[in-house]
Amino acid sequence: MPPPEPALSVVVPAYDEAEVLPEFARRLRPVLDGLEAAGLGGYEVLVVDDGSSDATPVVLTRLRRQWPQLRVVRLRANSGHQAALSAGLARARARDAVVTMDADLQDPPEVLPALLAAGRDHDVVYAVREDRSVDSRLKRVTAAGFYRLVRRLGGRAPEQAGDFRYTSRVVVDTVLQLPEAHRVLRLVIPDLGFDSATVGYARQARGAGRTKYPLTRMVRLSLDAITGSSTAPLRLASFFGLGGAVLTSLLLLYALVSFAVGRTVPGWTSTLAVVAGVGTLQLLCLGVLGEYVGRLYVQAQNRPTYLVASDSLDPPGGQTRT
Ligand code: UDP
Ligand code: MG
Repeated sequence: MPPPEPALSVVVPAYDEAEVLPEFARRLRPVLDGLEAAGLGGYEVLVVDDGSSDATPVVLTRLRRQWPQLRVVRLRANSGHQAALSAGLARARARDAVVTMDADLQDPPEVLPALLAAGRDHDVVYAVREDRSVDSRLKRVTAAGFYRLVRRLGGRAPEQAGDFRYTSRVVVDTVLQLPEAHRVLRLVIPDLGFDSATVGYARQARGAGRTKYPLTRMVRLSLDAITGSSTAPLRLASFFGLGGAVLTSLLLLYALVSFAVGRTVPGWTSTLAVVAGVGTLQLLCLGVLGEYVGRLYVQAQNRPTYLVASDSLDPPGGQTRT
C-alpha cells in the first residue's frame, strides 16, 4: 500500500549531486517538518535522479532510510534538467501543490514557507533572485539578455525567475496536458496566465559539486525557450528580404546611372561584398528555419523525453511504468 497522498510534493532534479545531497537533506528536512507541524497535510520530497553516474543513487538510498518522505525516481538516462522536472511533475502525488527546486542549495530551502504562504492566494509563486552576486558575470549578463529577448518576442517570463517555483495542482495538471515535448517550464508556466505572485530571495553559491550547465547547454536551453515561445525569428527572413530589396534597387539604380554616364568600373570589391553579405543572410535564415523544422521533426517522432527506470514508491519487483 503506497502512503496516502501528501498535500505537497517538492520536486528536485539531481544529476551527479552526491556531494551536496546530504547537506541538502539536512537543510530541507527541518523546514518541511516544521511546515508539517504547523498544519501542512503531509509532504513528499521527490528527487528525480537524472541518470547520475556518480554516487547519487547510493546517497539517496542511504538518506531514504532515515527520511521516509523522501522518494526517488530514477531516469534511465541523463535527460536534462527540463525533462527531469517534467518527470517529477508527472509523478508528483501531491493533492494541493508542487514546489520545484534545484538540489545544489542555490535555491535555499528556507524560502519554502514564504512560497507556500503566498501560494494560499495564488496559483503560481515564483521565487525571484534579488541578489545574484554569487553567479558569474557571464551568467548574469547572458541571463539578463536572454530574458529581455524573450519578453521582446512576446514571452511573459518574470525577470530573474528560474525553476524555483510553487505551482498549484491545477497548474501542474494543465502543464502535463500540453503536448509539447521540449517544454521550457519557466516560460510555459507564465504563458498559461494563472494568477501569480513573486517572493524574493538571495541566490546562494552552489553547496558543492560543479554546475551541470556548461555554455552549450545554456545555448540549447535558450534555443528551446525561444523557438518554444515565439515564431518571430521566422519573420527575420522576411525582414532581411525587404531590406535587401530596398538595397538592391538602390544598387541597381547606381549601376544604371554609372552605365549611362559610361563610368563602369570593374567592381570586384562591391561584387564580393554583396555576394558574401547575401550568402551569409541566406544561411542565417536557413538556419532559423532549420531550428523550427528540426523541432517539428522531433515533435512528430513523439519520443518520450525521459524514461523512468525506478520509483522508490513502487513495490519491490513491481513494474515501473513511465
Ligand atoms: N540537472 C539535471 N539534469 C541535468 C543537468 C542539471 O537534473 O542534465 C539538475 C542539477 O542537478 C541541479 C539543477 O538541475 O539540481 C540545476 O543545475 P545546475 O545547478 O548545474 O545549473 P546552474 O544552477 O549552474 O544553472
Ligand atoms: Mg545550480
